[in-house]
Amino acid sequence: SVSGKTAVVTGSTSGIGLGVAEELAKAGAKVVLNSFTDSEEDHKIASDMAAKYGTEVRYIQADMSKGDQCRALIEKAGACDILVNNAGIQHVAAIDEFPVAKWDAIIAINLSSSFHTIAAALPMMRKAGWGRVVNIASAHGLTASPYKSAYVSAKHGIVGMTKTVALETAEEPITCNAICPGYVLTPLVEAQIPDTMEKYGMSRDEVVRDVLLERQPSKAFATTEQIGGTVAFLCSAAAEQITGTTISVDGGWTAL
Ligand code: NAD
Repeated sequence: SVSGKTAVVTGSTSGIGLGVAEELAKAGAKVVLNSFTDSEEDHKIASDMAAKYGTEVRYIQADMSKGDQCRALIEKAGACDILVNNAGIQHVAAIDEFPVAKWDAIIAINLSSSFHTIAAALPMMRKAGWGRVVNIASAHGLTASPYKSAYVSAKHGIVGMTKTVALETAEEPITCNAICPGYVLTPLVEAQIPDTMEKYGMSRDEVVRDVLLERQPSKAFATTEQIGGTVAFLCSAAAEQITGTTISVDGGWTAL
């Protein structure tokens, strides 16, 4: 059970991270929310969540594109029984036109941040005698799409890191797994819709059904609650021998 455990969720002021944080708070975990901003709104999300679920929720600012700040996030949290590496960004462009700064930012935030947070969190998990690392990868950690070279590379990379960490902790009461969501309707996905409408001259509905959900046989978005529930499952006793693997929550995408 996650009750009383401390969970750090990176990039958790919106979308999947927020949904995961909420499911863990609901289950009684002490939650650390994170993003790179430090606004009143960030702290309000934490205090509202704490009040709603009667558990401790803190907001800690840290930019996941910076290795030292990733490590500082874990140190400031003071404990980290459950680490959910969720922060991520997207950029869509052909590889020969892909902005170098975007490539660097995606690799830093979607891949290297997890290297740093895991490195900082494992000693705490070992000391506590229990730990769960859950990396939010993507269907793009297992398959590719054109124009997403940085994202697909980072997500395949995090699946590899997941397996490696699982082997390094295999004999310990620590597991490391990745969740591979298909499309979840979050601000990240929402932001891709206008560009795609323009690119293909399509309506919003056409973009949703024929482009975004083209490869999602269920023709339905996964929800942030479902991703949060999958994280909670990976933290449960039933999942004790699940390590070094991926769980797809993708409406059949990777079955195609
Ligand atoms: P989102 O844009 O709604 O949320 C991303 C979160 O990351 C935000 O809270 C943002 O503040 C934070 N973030 C961005 N840059 C950061 C930085 N430098 N430092 C700290 N935090 C930062 O996106 P989302 O759709 O909820 O995506 C969350 C994760 O899920 C990402 O890793 C994404 O790749 C993955 N994912 C999303 C989908 C989807 O369909 N939405 C599918 C598969 C995987």
